[in-house]
Amino acid sequence: CKETGSCVTVCPANALSLEAKAAAPAAKKADAGAAKEFNAKEPLPKAVQDYAKTNAAKSAPVAGGDVWSGVWIIVEYNHGRIAPVSWELLGEGRKLADVIGCELCAVITGYQVDHVIREAFAYGAEKVYVIDDPVLENFRTEPYAEAITGLVRKYQPEIILMGATAIGRDVFPAVATRLRTGLTADCTVLGIDPETKLLQQTRPAFGGNIMATILCRSRRPQMSTVRPRVMAMPARVEGRSGEIVREQQSMTEDEIRTKVLEFIPGDAKSIFLDKAEIIVAVGLGIASQKNLPLVEELADSLGATLACTRGVVEAGWMSHDHQVGQTGVTVRPKVYIAIGISGAIQHLVGMETSDYIIAVNNDPEAGIFRVANYGILGDLFQVVPLLTAEFKKRLQ
Ligand code: FAD
Repeated sequence: CKETGSCVTVCPANALSLEAKAAAPAAKKADAGAAKEFNAKEPLPKAVQDYAKTNAAKSAPVAGGDVWSGVWIIVEYNHGRIAPVSWELLGEGRKLADVIGCELCAVITGYQVDHVIREAFAYGAEKVYVIDDPVLENFRTEPYAEAITGLVRKYQPEIILMGATAIGRDVFPAVATRLRTGLTADCTVLGIDPETKLLQQTRPAFGGNIMATILCRSRRPQMSTVRPRVMAMPARVEGRSGEIVREQQSMTEDEIRTKVLEFIPGDAKSIFLDKAEIIVAVGLGIASQKNLPLVEELADSLGATLACTRGVVEAGWMSHDHQVGQTGVTVRPKVYIAIGISGAIQHLVGMETSDYIIAVNNDPEAGIFRVANYGILGDLFQVVPLLTAEFKKRLQ
């Protein structure tokens, strides 16, 4: 690091800063030819000073007083699809808002979103904040983060929640950084501390071995992303309505650094993995990509959706859209058939709440057998064709 500040000015999430104390040891260790000695008396580059001034002004106030009020759910809407976790969060948000005694609001940022507003009311929002603008047609971090941040600064909600989807995991850290507040990612349980009324944000930690409950005591808003399919879907009540607050998008197309050249939809089956009722999932036991047709045939015989472990994604045999687990999708199908999967904790957290788990593995000690309702101990290359033949016979 040569302390030029160039990284600070180009970071799209405004997440970097250059501080004299932190920079000094790094500069001392650096190759004398590559970086000059850091001198704390020298002024920081102008770009960095400007950045610090802007962000000091933008920093969110610390908690206190009663300015910050309300539970907000950020509704994820992209290319005509509403992420169902948005409605799960409205159900959960209702409980939190009732304990605190505040209002429950939805936030919709996108383009041509009137039908989404209706749905937000139907799922329980009392008020909906909307930014409807062509620059928000395709998801991009900068304009989405700017839109949400602008609304938060103006209306000051106490809690904001979003789904831990690919979009939520992308945009929420950028929002938290702009607001200089904390964010707990991938929560599986939320609650309100009865005394302090702080949001209790619980998530697996240390590879899923413990559950950690995290509080954000001194900054506002309190922010969490929540895994899809862990909160119950609330009842949809047709005809409910409430207040709509419309705001303008502050960023113009010229100010956005990324351009969408083309939109290529993903594999339709894997997009709906989190809603699939029957899943056939494959692990490294399949040994090679050329053996995948074996499990594809099994999935077809049941009308099931195909999924996999991270091992299979890392081997390049299937795309990440299909991955179940901690860093993939959480699923809760009626039937989950695990073929050649060891049952690592990071995989189990994404599927162990399935109604019925059937595991095929040739290792009697495999962890997957501990969560399976039915275990078939055997060589998958023998067992899977037998299962496929039997399902075809019975289901035809
Ligand atoms: P393996 O563990 O190699 O298991 C293969 C299994 O196949 C074995 O049990 C073996 O007995 C069996 N087998 C072999 N041959 C046969 C045969 N002929 N017949 C029957 N059975 C056979 N993993 C995920 O899946 N999802 C995640 O989201 C995820 N996130 C992670 C996040 C982090 C931070 C880390 C560190 C890891 C993560 N992992 C995740 C990786 C995880 O720890 C495991 O490495 C991975 O799940 C193992 O994949 P696997 O079961 O396919 O492979």
